[in-house]
Amino acid sequence: MLSSYQLIRSKRKSLGISIKPDGSVIVRVPLRTALATINRFVARYQDWINSKLLLINAVKATQIAELLLYYLGQRYPLKECGDGVFAVDATAVDVPAVVAVSKIEFDGNCFLIKAGYMNQVDIIIQQWYYAQAQRLIAPIIQEYSQRFGLYASKIKITSAKTRWGSCNRLGTVCFSYRITMLPITVIHYIVAHELAHLKHLNHSKLFWQQVAHMYPEYKSAQSWLKEHRYMLAANII
Ligand SMILES: [Zn+2]
Repeated sequence: MLSSYQLIRSKRKSLGISIKPDGSVIVRVPLRTALATINRFVARYQDWINSKLLLINAVKATQIAELLLYYLGQRYPLKECGDGVFAVDATAVDVPAVVAVSKIEFDGNCFLIKAGYMNQVDIIIQQWYYAQAQRLIAPIIQEYSQRFGLYASKIKITSAKTRWGSCNRLGTVCFSYRITMLPITVIHYIVAHELAHLKHLNHSKLFWQQVAHMYPEYKSAQSWLKEHRYMLAANII
């Protein structure tokens, strides 16, 4: 029997199958691929899919109770996978090569770290947050820059521990990768705040008027930050 799968059509050239850590099967195909072709493709790799699903089911995820990681304002447990295949990706029709894609994955409910990597957990999580920060922040910065005509001369993602963002005289705007731990609305506020500094490099009344203009709900974002200020200190990274 064919596996049920999630179909994603996109501008790609080949058909691919991947299996997420939760066992869901994703089939990626070029935009105009006929369903019959897709089903033939899935049928051809059905044994391969089954073997991976068996492995995933065999994975004993051990929850590491004290580690709850923030992501977009929510806390999620970190679990260590057993020795099974962690995540696989077959990217081309004729090359069902099994490639372990990453040491850590977020499946929507928890973080899963590959077996044997717990001793490097700090650095692995940091790298993950860092990559998420780059992915998440860029379009938000672009949005506010375009809407309000405030362009940073340089944007950097840093590992700052004590502040979420900063802006200097040269127009360099920095964001800590830890910003990804915050709710998306708070990230918007922080981006608006730092870009507003391009106009007013202080916390004057005019500055706050600029912030209010760019992000009218800034006060609720500020109170969220105040309520969760223990976050930075409590997080292991
Ligand atoms: Zn400021």
